[in-house]
Amino acid sequence: MVNCIFCKIANKETSSEILHEDEYTLAIRDINPQAPVHILVIPKKHIRSLVEMDENDKGIIGHLIYTAKDLATKHGISNKGFRMIVNSGLESGQSVWHLHFHVMGGRKMLWPPG
Ligand code: AMP
Repeated sequence: MVNCIFCKIANKETSSEILHEDEYTLAIRDINPQAPVHILVIPKKHIRSLVEMDENDKGIIGHLIYTAKDLATKHGISNKGFRMIVNSGLESGQSVWHLHFHVMGGRKMLWPPG
């Protein structure tokens, strides 16, 4: 998708710290981390938001969640606990319109998130 920052990163048109890559997924370090570990797990396919995924994307989403779990373990936050967040839509605070899972940990999280 033209002008999508995550598509540009996936296509290597823009650089980023890539932590994991496979056929369906890319994981990068968030440029503005909100926790000691803050990773974005992104489908290579351009899906605008969670509500715009279609039935054929179910497998990709499962793959993303499994990858997120692996990365949480690899980055040492799975034992103490971590948070996985998807912002979907304007009121959620979504700012990049390409689906992504935030994987955050390394500090105590607050609830409600605000
Ligand atoms: P959201 O507000 O849920 O759409 O999250 C978008 C996230 O993408 C924010 O946490 C940003 O800091 C992050 N972000 C934006 N551009 C980049 C980039 N070029 N590389 C890494 N992270 C980015």
